[in-house]
Amino acid sequence: MVRHFQAFVVDEPPGSGRIESLTLADLPDESVLVEVAYSSLNYKDALAVTGNGKIARKFPMVCGIDLAGKVLESADPRFMPGDNVAAIGSGLSEHMWGGYAGCMRVKADVLFKIPEPFDAKEIMAIGTAGYTAMVGIMMLEKAGMSPERGEVLVTGAGGGVGSIAITVLASLGYRVVASSGRVELSDYFKWLGAAEIIPRAELDRIPKPLEKGRWGGALDSVGSKTLATVLATTKEMGCVGACGLAGGSDLPTNVMPFILRGVRLIGVNYYLQPEGTREVAWARLANEFPAEKRSAMTRMEPLSRIRGLSEEILAGRIRGRVVIDVRA
Ligand code: NDP
Repeated sequence: MVRHFQAFVVDEPPGSGRIESLTLADLPDESVLVEVAYSSLNYKDALAVTGNGKIARKFPMVCGIDLAGKVLESADPRFMPGDNVAAIGSGLSEHMWGGYAGCMRVKADVLFKIPEPFDAKEIMAIGTAGYTAMVGIMMLEKAGMSPERGEVLVTGAGGGVGSIAITVLASLGYRVVASSGRVELSDYFKWLGAAEIIPRAELDRIPKPLEKGRWGGALDSVGSKTLATVLATTKEMGCVGACGLAGGSDLPTNVMPFILRGVRLIGVNYYLQPEGTREVAWARLANEFPAEKRSAMTRMEPLSRIRGLSEEILAGRIRGRVVIDVRA
């Protein structure tokens, strides 16, 4: 019997994405066949789904940068039928078909066995966004960030990266300040562990070359003027991780924070990390991102709503994380 499943497929021109019924014969010729249970919604997914960003590098493309499910068949000795596996980012939805499909054939190199204590749904509740938050924090720690060196700022606080970064940093004992365009979410940020909330507009401006230093560290998923202001208000030898561009990809800054205060600007790319990072990052997420916070900041949505959800996340209206049930 032919197995049919739904998939969200984009083609050219951008924005032409739709849900299609596919069969196994439509899938690419890769070594591991996965029955996908869940994917997730990241900012990058929304760019791919709506065609607002150049994410897919070939067409047609099945979107979804994350996936989690069960191995059905494997021609690679690292995986066996029945293994619970996941992939985050790693080129899915760019040059390889991604997770917005009931089944997918995936390169073994991008898959990993879902580590304890997570299951498929929980690993997608973290997804690329949460993994990036953790890796960003690890990079900042390596650069010297510690609770003793002062307050830590998290921008884009209401989003996936921001919400998870606040929670992890608070559980590590930092005094976390959350910057958000949605101060109405203040109770949520406090519940995550933020000690203080500042409105987005305080940072979204062209700063003076140097302003009063406040932050010992910062994780920024906004970019543009916000990142410039974060740099101008970071204390001596403080470090700032730049991981996103929700506010723009420009950076109207100057060299003063670097040459007068020794501020370090660290580029965070979750994928370009030394060997062994993945194991450490997931183990730390298991310890430092409490399960009750994880489930309370996550909602489950069906694949059928992916277009509307993508528009919502690009408009900055989604709070926390969205897991996508690809069968619904
Ligand atoms: P979300 O959309 O979930 O979060 C982004 C948040 O940024 C929003 O919730 C909002 O927070 C804020 N924001 C949105 N629009 C604007 C705006 N115009 N100006 C200022 N702030 C804005 O996205 P993710 O958490 O999934 O990703 C965040 C960023 O990180 C994205 O740019 C994404 O591409 C990037 N990213 C980078 C990775 C890497 O390896 N470098 C990996 C994963 C993500 P609020 O309302 O609270 O202000």
